[in-house]
Amino acid sequence: MAEDIPVKSSQDEAINGTFSPKPILPIKKSKLTGSSGLANAYSPLLTRVASPYTLNPPIDSDGLSWPSQGARDRIEQSPEEAKAREQRIAEAVKTILVELGEDTSREGLLETPERYARAMLYFTKGYEDNIRDVIKRAVFEEDHDEMVIVRDIEVYSLCEHHLVPFFGKAHIAYIPNKKVLGLSKLARLAEMYSRRFQVQERLTKQIAMALSEILRPRGVAVVIEATHMCMVSRGVQKTGSSTTTSCMLGCFRDQQKTREEFLTLLGRK
Ligand SMILES: [Zn+2]
Repeated sequence: MAEDIPVKSSQDEAINGTFSPKPILPIKKSKLTGSSGLANAYSPLLTRVASPYTLNPPIDSDGLSWPSQGARDRIEQSPEEAKAREQRIAEAVKTILVELGEDTSREGLLETPERYARAMLYFTKGYEDNIRDVIKRAVFEEDHDEMVIVRDIEVYSLCEHHLVPFFGKAHIAYIPNKKVLGLSKLARLAEMYSRRFQVQERLTKQIAMALSEILRPRGVAVVIEATHMCMVSRGVQKTGSSTTTSCMLGCFRDQQKTREEFLTLLGRK
């Protein structure tokens, strides 16, 4: 996250409308292995236009998102391997505590390393999600072409530069093109991408691009307003400052009227 505030970033590429939508099918985790076969046949990447951003795409060829090597290891691990992973993280935390001048044998800290390891695994559980499992069968044919907005979705994420939380509200809108998504899935998408190490700009964009891949709608808009602990609690100490990022695709990008309607509905105009 850049330290200058407020940040507004809304660069993106237009949706390429020349492809027909691909069905989004639930996929077993066991199908996520390997680089060939079924999983790739569903790849949203196969339908994407090239751009500097999509060369480093938010959705990997198997529905995961990067860094997918470690994510795959997490998904496929046995319970014993999971335990060993937790233990390795806890050992590292113990080192940090000692280096910070703490006594790890005092009562209050006895189980802190293990607790912290479990907390971090939870905060980053989005790595184990993939887009098809999140969406499941919640894409519906519907002859609705008015704006759909879900406001004030709570997001909790971790700044990848400082490994401390940033959190706030996401607002997601789209204008359908014969397909709508179950409303709760918008929040699930935001959850999947925010439970990782992130920068707010990328989080905003990943949600927008994923929705655009899934529905091929006429347009998508995502706005996130968040407070970064790395900003408010250290260095510049701008208490109360918040950062706003947005990503507009399709008609939200091309048509000022649509964009204004969205901002009005958000209460920002
Ligand atoms: Zn930070």
